[in-house]
Amino acid sequence: MFSNKESFQKVFLKKLEMTYGKSFKESTVQDQYHTLGNMVREYISSDWIATNEAQRSNHSKQVYYLSIEFLLGRLLGQNLLNLGIKEVVEEGLKDLNISLEEIEEIEADAGLGNGGLGRLAACFLDSLASLNLPGHGCGIRYKHGLFDQKIVDGFQVELPEQWLRHGNSWEVRKVDQSIEVNFWGDVEYYSDNGKLAFRHINGESILAVPYDIPVVGYDTTTVNTLRLWNAEPASFPVHKDVMQYKRETEAVSEFLYPDDTHEDGKILRLKQQYFLVSASLQSIVRSHRIVYGTLANLHEKVAIHINDTHPVLAIPELMRILLDEEKLSWDDAWHITTQTISYTNHTTLSEALEKWPIHLFKPLLPRIYMIVEEINQRFCEELWKRYPYQWKRIEDMAIIAHDMVKMAHLAIVGSHKVNGVAKIHTDILKKREMKNFFDFYPQKFINKTNGITHRRWLLKANPELSILLNETIGDEWVKNPYALKQLESYAQDKNFKDQLKKVKQQRKDILSEVIKKQTGIEINPQSIFDVQVKRLHAYKRQLLNVLHIMYLYNRLKEDSNFKIVPRTFIFGAKASPGYYYAKKVIKLINSVADVVNSDPVTSPFLKVVFLENYRVSLAEDVFTAADVSEQISTASKEASGTGNMKFMMNGALTVGTMDGANVEIAEVVGENNMFIFGLSSEEVLHYQQNGGYRSFDYYHHDQRIKKVLEQLTNGFFKNTYDLFEPIYDSLLMQNDEYYVLRDFASYVQAQEKVNQAYGDKDKWFEMSALNIAQSGYFSSDRTISEYAKEIWEINSSKQILSY
Ligand SMILES: *Cc1c(COP(=O)(O)O)cnc(C)c1O
Repeated sequence: MFSNKESFQKVFLKKLEMTYGKSFKESTVQDQYHTLGNMVREYISSDWIATNEAQRSNHSKQVYYLSIEFLLGRLLGQNLLNLGIKEVVEEGLKDLNISLEEIEEIEADAGLGNGGLGRLAACFLDSLASLNLPGHGCGIRYKHGLFDQKIVDGFQVELPEQWLRHGNSWEVRKVDQSIEVNFWGDVEYYSDNGKLAFRHINGESILAVPYDIPVVGYDTTTVNTLRLWNAEPASFPVHKDVMQYKRETEAVSEFLYPDDTHEDGKILRLKQQYFLVSASLQSIVRSHRIVYGTLANLHEKVAIHINDTHPVLAIPELMRILLDEEKLSWDDAWHITTQTISYTNHTTLSEALEKWPIHLFKPLLPRIYMIVEEINQRFCEELWKRYPYQWKRIEDMAIIAHDMVKMAHLAIVGSHKVNGVAKIHTDILKKREMKNFFDFYPQKFINKTNGITHRRWLLKANPELSILLNETIGDEWVKNPYALKQLESYAQDKNFKDQLKKVKQQRKDILSEVIKKQTGIEINPQSIFDVQVKRLHAYKRQLLNVLHIMYLYNRLKEDSNFKIVPRTFIFGAKASPGYYYAKKVIKLINSVADVVNSDPVTSPFLKVVFLENYRVSLAEDVFTAADVSEQISTASKEASGTGNMKFMMNGALTVGTMDGANVEIAEVVGENNMFIFGLSSEEVLHYQQNGGYRSFDYYHHDQRIKKVLEQLTNGFFKNTYDLFEPIYDSLLMQNDEYYVLRDFASYVQAQEKVNQAYGDKDKWFEMSALNIAQSGYFSSDRTISEYAKEIWEINSSKQILSY
């Protein structure tokens, strides 16, 4: 049906009529989108079945990537590209006077994630399939993804997201493969042929119904599966209020928790975590039994990866299955479990490390709690053998301590590999945050620097640049991102750089239109597009960016000789609904925008735009149009970042601290091809350990800072009164935890260098080209190849790229 445009059109029109009972003329774009989506999914299905069968019959080892978040964005455009049928569809639709782009844009983002962690999971799925690896995702089918953000009067307002309102063409409900997950109840002790055995009884059962989404690789017949679990009533209990049971059950897959780093102590969240884990594990084990008839070889044929600690109950859940159902001994079960499971750590922020109070955990998951206690008991005995009488060390390392279950400790003890997500992050884990564990298990800790799929963030998001690359170095880079290196030899080529500049301008024109449409603001498409898009968080320091803008505004007002290249500062960020400080910063950005944009003196040089509802589909238009990438977290706080990689791949230059993957960007592209500033992570750690930082000193000794901070509270912003006092206080009264004032001068300097560098376009686009050329390292194909080899020990039927 996709072999030529005529046959495509025929099937498309027929299907449209049959599905909607309307003529083509009467159909809406929504109808057309779903018709096309369903056609594509049906087209995929034979390869999907074949992949499943081949993976079963080859007895190939399977990987399951468990993640509480999958931030997929839209699927149609990427699927068409990966399947190689985009052109046929585009041509076919054009004859019918339909634009494919318009159809693509009606698709709701699958926004089942908060930010980097969820997007990483989505990028990994694309790389797994594209590298022909048997790797599947397991997640939750939240009815409402991350909230929709509206900006009203400069404030964030949250609305429930409704991605399933018009249905979802990509998913297949498989009710026959449902699984029961049990909560509450008791543990029964009984004798199993004279052996003490346990089982979970009197539980309240929730039905986990799988919805499978095919994951299509690029130019391959591999189609993996993303299995999302939906929570539904199992059988209605007679003893309980039926409506209440239904509500409580469905609540489990109703909302994604909109909290980015802080752990929320809600019992519903723990329920979600166990729901994901138990349904996934039971289903994995069931498939394994069908093929092998035993679980004794599970660790040889299955790898289970947990994305952060949210799915860490996979460890006790697998133990439960092996002990209570498979009747294995503790030692055998433990061997299989630890050899099966591996864990990625995503943060060293202590407030983000998950802990659960026993009084919540134990009644909700009685048998799982018992197993965690046993794991803890045995682990502490091992510690005692190695560190006799070192009470403090053992207490610090224990899984259960002070009436809390420490999820990261459970993850480390129960996995065979623990990885950080960038070199500096892994170093900090080893040397500081998890030092005790590293000393105890040195061989477990490894680094796997994050990556992004270049097929979405370059090939799909930036067709203009992709075409230029194909014309310049050929299209090998699509399959082998390291081939982008060939661009190095064009960095001095005047003609190439002119074209690169033209492409960037095209992308800037497109974003300018998006901005005009969304905000009404007219920006100068020739100005420097300086972009900070990411979750709003104190450690990411959007505030530093804003204070710099206020400083530029003041300079432009005070000094008529002060000139800058016109710049548009673009922000996009959601704040967690309960994160008071972050919401203040959003309001501040919008207040600064109001003043700056409406001032005739400054507005030719300075514009500030806050784009509402930052999400994957919007991100595609933003990264591709950026000249400057703001990666300005307090050193040591950003584990990796992946936004930094998307910018680089699209030729933006980084203004950044030596934090997360910025360090490796500097390594591959050279410090002279970016703008590095600020404290190093060692300097930050030194302040934290020894004190000695006084933010007041920077306030008193730097007039620029003084003026800007006074403007936060002196009525400079109309109708705001004491609105920004909490920000002022955080910087001065609370001694500026994230060293914003400390890094201010250094940041201003880096920005002055940006200003100068942009004046020399030839040099600028040389640097831009070099950034693109070196970005292949940050493809998730590289990351996934490393995971496959060093953690999962799986093979590809395709040659894995060696870098
Ligand atoms: C890449 C991405 C992120 C992560 O951005 P960071 O700058 O690494 O924090 C968050 N949200 C969306 C929509 C993304 O595409």
